Amino acid sequence: MRQVAEAIEIADTLASVDVSPQEYVRLLGYPRGWALEGRARELANWARDWYAKNGRPWFYARQAECVEFNHTIQGDSSQGDAILADAIRIDGAVFTSKRLHTALEQAGAQSAILVAVGAGPEAEDEARRRWSDEKPDEYFFLEVFASAVVEHLTTIAGARLCDWAEQRGMAVLPHSSPGYPDWDVAEQPHLLELILQTRSEQFPSRLDVFDSGMLRPKKAQLAVFGVTRHTERLQRLTSLVPCESCSFGPCQYRRAAYKRAPRPTGEPLPVRINVREKVLDSDAQYTVNRKALQRWSEERLAMRPSPDGSIDITFRYDGTTCTNMGRPLAFIYNVKLGSRAEGYPILEQSCGPATGDTGYMSMCKYVEDPESLMADIESEKPLIGQRLNSILKWRREPNAAGCYCEASSRNHKWGLVLETIHYSLVQKELSEETRTS
Ligand code: SF4
Repeated sequence: MRQVAEAIEIADTLASVDVSPQEYVRLLGYPRGWALEGRARELANWARDWYAKNGRPWFYARQAECVEFNHTIQGDSSQGDAILADAIRIDGAVFTSKRLHTALEQAGAQSAILVAVGAGPEAEDEARRRWSDEKPDEYFFLEVFASAVVEHLTTIAGARLCDWAEQRGMAVLPHSSPGYPDWDVAEQPHLLELILQTRSEQFPSRLDVFDSGMLRPKKAQLAVFGVTRHTERLQRLTSLVPCESCSFGPCQYRRAAYKRAPRPTGEPLPVRINVREKVLDSDAQYTVNRKALQRWSEERLAMRPSPDGSIDITFRYDGTTCTNMGRPLAFIYNVKLGSRAEGYPILEQSCGPATGDTGYMSMCKYVEDPESLMADIESEKPLIGQRLNSILKWRREPNAAGCYCEASSRNHKWGLVLETIHYSLVQKELSEETRTS
């Protein structure tokens, strides 16, 4: 019996999905490398745009409390030995999948994560309308795009799990789903029933299942991912590495090349095992000395990691105005970074006076034109959308003034904030590497 000590649960709806054109073209049935033209291209663009405006994609993932997959599982007496041999019991529910069972057993998995993803009902409803209106082309392209969304969501969910697992010295195994060749789709209702028993998150969208195992809305998928701490076993058993089937481009942990990626005919798939690539330069040349960065990271910085791998960060800046007798002022910087797997992209940035601070009202520019200065401070988000490591290349005019009157002094402070975050994450990664080596 494998019991879980530390559990992950994520429920998310996505504002947009970035289905790669190659994956869409593949699902439309064209050969690898095919470029859509003419009417097909027009329909593909229409389906993509329609979904971007109307689709509501979502995913949910929860680590199971308890997983058993040895040969001692006792089923009811109507189940034969052959079935029991491949049985897995997840939180008390028994499933039969040879592939999943083998993967869990060979990898010495400690745990499993239950995943549900869905493209939402909108695309299906619209496709049905197009069919009724005798527009089979639109029906087909939209149906296939929704299928591509589901595949993409499973990939994204897997990538978030990989990020979570890698940071804990674990690895995620290839997923299995009811309806795959070795797993009877009739078990889908039991799996959905299990997944719907959420821990603390709300299930993001309505999902039903027919007795036959068909999901409703049908553009959805349930999956089980094993998780192992025995990452060394993946060195010997490359079939336990999911990366060959994973199209997640920005992944920092990839162990094997994506097998559907375009490559010259006949070239073998390169396989790398257990290499954790650096996403932050640990020999960074900062503009501030490391002692100061160390002190600020301890005294001014607060980081709150989320289960999905993103990090919410707060930095407090204390300074003084340059005139008006050097009045003290305090500003709060908020930064949201995406996950390590995505290379810590800067997703959100904001800056404003700390609660209760009044010193900012004594800055010269504030006295001259308060609205304009505060609008500038609020709107400036340097490096938004870029990876955190890009702070090392950001060339900014030196201006160490304590106030916020000039753009250069505001940039200077953003530089300090982002360098402190960079420094702090590098130290965290270095100490994790030391612990696991
Ligand atoms: S490439 Fe491999 S490690 Fe990266 S997200 Fe995909 S399966 Fe996980």
